Amino acid sequence: MTDTEYHRLLGMSRDAFADLESHLVERTDDGRTYCHVPDYRRGVERGTSLIDGTVVRGFPKVPRTLVLSEGVPERFADQPGDRIAVEEKLNGYNVRVVRLDGERLAFSRSGMICPFTTRILERLVDLEALFEQYPEAMVCGEMIGPENPYTAHDYPDVDSIAFRAFDWRDRESGEPLPVETRRERYDTFDVPQTRLFGQFEVDAAAAEIRRIIEELDAEDREGVIMKSPDGTAQLKYTTSAANQGDLAYAFSLPFDYGQPFMFRRLIREGFQSIEWDESDAVARERAHELGEAILLSMRETIDTVDAGEPVGERHTVRASHETVDILLEHLEGQGLTIEIEDDRREDGDRVCTFLKVTRSTIDKTRNYLDGHIVKE
Ligand code: ATP
Ligand code: MG
Repeated sequence: MTDTEYHRLLGMSRDAFADLESHLVERTDDGRTYCHVPDYRRGVERGTSLIDGTVVRGFPKVPRTLVLSEGVPERFADQPGDRIAVEEKLNGYNVRVVRLDGERLAFSRSGMICPFTTRILERLVDLEALFEQYPEAMVCGEMIGPENPYTAHDYPDVDSIAFRAFDWRDRESGEPLPVETRRERYDTFDVPQTRLFGQFEVDAAAAEIRRIIEELDAEDREGVIMKSPDGTAQLKYTTSAANQGDLAYAFSLPFDYGQPFMFRRLIREGFQSIEWDESDAVARERAHELGEAILLSMRETIDTVDAGEPVGERHTVRASHETVDILLEHLEGQGLTIEIEDDRREDGDRVCTFLKVTRSTIDKTRNYLDGHIVKE
């Protein structure tokens, strides 16, 4: 297929496409060559892939509000009288599944084919009937659970890894189905979905969401995504448990996470504390928890490096021998240093625990421990 046809599929002018082309990254997967847009670009969602003459649209960026009572009406202002759907925001990693040439492929947020997710999905959910009926569908969802190679988080009903659908879009245009239609269709095909808390009038939503967030927070769950009935407008809001969990994680690898990552989460806590009109005592408790999230995880890392042990992102995966091999190769192909810590067989599967070694945190921490003098 010529570039001219890609520009048409993307709905871009030839010039705009020429500009985009220099930002495309070429990859191969299983002998197939394709291009993707790993960063945000004008006119095209991050994570869009050009593959086998078709376009697989990236999943749109979901904006956030820091203050529910003002942000919700602001975001959904053009939906007066409408009810917005409030769904659970699951803490895992984003996946988009499409069928190309009869083959189901799973794409990561940045538009890379993930060979691990592609394979593991086959045993988690049966999408055959869905793609038979809707070959152009892009099944969007979150991979969750403790045994996953990117964002592991515990959910009581997930032992290893699971898929939960939260969106259904046209693969080429990225247009979503309305929330209700989407939920009905996934039900028909027996595809597990994220929870729907309800549909609320825009003006009443903030109060309802606050109540939902308090429940989610107590269960260490991440938050909610609000959606307009037609599925086009989205807005996210997260629990303090999620903000603090992220902070603890980031401060355990302080020189590998960008400082804006930490700063944003601290700011969210400030605004939540004010919006919820916390008493002195409650605010102090939050402050205490925040301090623990930051300091205790950092101490553990410094201790570990001091003992000469490596630090990094530790993950466990459970899959066939071959799938684990392919995953490790895929991760190393992206320039990551992987150290295998445990590798065994269990019930016919390979269970592998590995560390994505974070060099900057190890080196900087070592330097500081050795008395490196900082000019600051
Ligand atoms: P981005 O905002 O660009 O998507 P991010 O890493 O900042 O990237 P998050 O803060 O996790 O993303 O919020 C958006 C992501 O939330 C989505 O990309 C999706 O993977 C995830 N998500 C989980 N549950 C839902 C849901 N019910 N509806 C929509 N997205 C959901
Ligand atoms: Mg996420």
